[in-house]
Amino acid sequence: MSNLTAMLLRVRTRRGRVWIARLSVVADRLVARYGVPRLGNYRDPVREIFYIMLSARTADAQYRATYAALHARYATLEALAKATPAGVRACIRAGGLANTRSRHIILAARKLQALGTSPTTALRRMSAVGVFEFLCDLPGVGPKSALCVMMYSLRMDAFPVDVNVQRIAARLGIHPAGLTHGQSQRWLAPLAPVGRSLELHVGLVVHGRKICVPRNPKCGECHLRDLCAFGKRQTESHRVARVGPQGFEP
Ligand code: SF4
Repeated sequence: MSNLTAMLLRVRTRRGRVWIARLSVVADRLVARYGVPRLGNYRDPVREIFYIMLSARTADAQYRATYAALHARYATLEALAKATPAGVRACIRAGGLANTRSRHIILAARKLQALGTSPTTALRRMSAVGVFEFLCDLPGVGPKSALCVMMYSLRMDAFPVDVNVQRIAARLGIHPAGLTHGQSQRWLAPLAPVGRSLELHVGLVVHGRKICVPRNPKCGECHLRDLCAFGKRQTESHRVARVGPQGFEP
């Protein structure tokens, strides 16, 4: 089986057999600890597109609330395609970037409508390459958002990298710290174990929210610590602080 994400992003590398195996172990442990929870995402790809558009660079509670307000006012794709920017802006203002997002949402709704009587079915019938290209063509939808829709709603083995995934990958030592988001996505694409994208992505998101948080990660509570470069350094510096550099009690 080939790696779908690497193929879609046109990443070719020989790097990583060790990391593919290690990420498989990471996925096992994440599933054992957290299961594979749904994170509020939608099975209908049309709804998911707008949900994901509102989630970019926005706090959890805010984008859930703005999506709920948008859907309450415009429950159908037809209504959204006919909406005015001011009407959409009023629903999504709390999430920020409301001017740009409102334009993108209306244009995306019109493009989806052009797929025919059932855009949901049309998206489900497209090939992986076809749907990826269609989604990336929608205003306000980049490769990461497209991969999210494919993974959450179309159940394809696509592996999106969000801020949690990127941060934990750097701490585990899979890639250097300080990469751009695009670099991280391309680095990790060929390393995601085939068939495990959803488990790995969701597990890392939950882990990044609960344990491997941006500041002061809770390494003492982490079940990935033996696999983690940052966690091992933390353990060593605590040991040295406790017993001194020569191994004697200070
Ligand atoms: S050991 Fe610490 S840095 Fe490493 S994954 Fe766990 S919480 Fe994150």
